[in-house]
Amino acid sequence: MRYVVLGASAAGVNGVRQLRKRCPEAEIVLVSKDQEIYSRCILHHLIGNLRTREQLCFAEADFAKRYRVDWRKGVACTGVDTGKKEAALSDGTALSYDKLLIATGSHTFLPPVKGLREAKGVYGFRDMEETEAIMEAAKDAKHIVIMGGGLTGLDAATGFLHMGRSVELVELADRLLVKQLDERAASVYQKALEAKGVKLHLGCALEEVRCGDDGRVVSLALSDGGQIPCDLLVVTAGVRSNVEFLEGSGLELDSYGLVIDPQGRTNVADVYGAGDVTGRSPIWPAAVKQGMVAADNMAGIETGMEDFFASKSTMNFLDIPTMSLGLPEKPDDTYEEIVEDTGDQYRKVIHKGGTIYGAILQGDLAYGGVLTQLIARKIDVSRVKKPLFSIDYSDFFHTGDNFEFYYEVT
Ligand SMILES: Cc1cc2nc3c(=O)[nH]c(=O)nc-3n(C[C@H](O)[C@H](O)[C@H](O)COP(=O)(O)OP(=O)(O)OC[C@H]3O[C@@H](n4cnc5c(N)ncnc54)[C@H](O)[C@@H]3O)c2cc1C
Repeated sequence: MRYVVLGASAAGVNGVRQLRKRCPEAEIVLVSKDQEIYSRCILHHLIGNLRTREQLCFAEADFAKRYRVDWRKGVACTGVDTGKKEAALSDGTALSYDKLLIATGSHTFLPPVKGLREAKGVYGFRDMEETEAIMEAAKDAKHIVIMGGGLTGLDAATGFLHMGRSVELVELADRLLVKQLDERAASVYQKALEAKGVKLHLGCALEEVRCGDDGRVVSLALSDGGQIPCDLLVVTAGVRSNVEFLEGSGLELDSYGLVIDPQGRTNVADVYGAGDVTGRSPIWPAAVKQGMVAADNMAGIETGMEDFFASKSTMNFLDIPTMSLGLPEKPDDTYEEIVEDTGDQYRKVIHKGGTIYGAILQGDLAYGGVLTQLIARKIDVSRVKKPLFSIDYSDFFHTGDNFEFYYEVT
């Protein structure tokens, strides 16, 4: 049995680990464009000089040997022939497979803003190459601007702050982290960034990238009529799944990416997918879990993705910890909110019909464990008899007549 895994990151690496666990004797081939294994979540630590390149690695130092993997580094898959069961590789070889896991992640997409795609001095921020290009360009840059105030935009901003550089940030929404936070929680980060000298342009679109005679960006025109100087623009406001090489393979693709079922199966037998390539839940823990689930099913052990929040984020920008789960705001008044705000600590749970649809914890994240239990055990929060934020772990532990523990909140 030969398993071929495309992509050496959260989904691919964990897929390999799980395949080896389940199939001690199988042949496993890992193919990755990347030359090394690293966490994208901490790329800003490289910019901020908080970690070396080697310290971004999240796998064992002897990963390939330990899991007995034939790892083809720096090689891209350029096409998949699902009829012949072969993957075409950029080194000219055709690699046959019995089962294939596609975990090729995603790439920066430059939005169709006037002048953006042609300008020199514009960089995405998703992989090692882009990060190193940003660091090189930042050496001479005087006006650094970030387009996008989401998680990666704030990663970039704090990376530059650690580098001792000043930065401006342009965000279309009227607040930062609009997918994760409500106005109250976002304002804490806004104030903290402004206190560090970051100039925020919120509720503002980037309308045009203006360049000098050499084609390099010199300024940005904003939708509020303003114009700001810029010689290094980092774009974090666009991402697309890496599925181009799958065109014509017969694999089902949609506007998000590769289509998979809860077992990680695609529409073609023996081909599986996991992680950001599916474009569904582009977060690290989802990619890890999907890689493991797909590997289990490839090995003949039927498992499925449990329900989880498509967006679960934990962040710690400027040492302010925040956890966000699901919806950051009530979609309408049929939903209810339970809020506790002490100034330093903010906690909010959004629920409807007893089910939790979203939560934000900022300051102290200790309640995150209780919250996870409430969600995992599908506890009807509208029937909980004590104030929600007073629940602690002891409320989940009861002893039955047979002295077995069981979980309940009354
Ligand atoms: C700057 C940044 C910060 C982030 N911060 C967080 C965070 O704080 N929390 C969080 O949960 N998530 C975060 N994320 C998202 C998280 O990193 C991704 O969800 C996760 O990396 C997805 O893993 P993956 O294995 O699916 O794909 P990726 O990590 O994108 O890896 C794809 C792999 O496929 C390879 N590849 C691509 N194309 C090919 C090809 N044609 N042939 C062979 N190999 C190929 C690549 O070289 C790479 O090895 C962040 C992402 C970025 C960019």
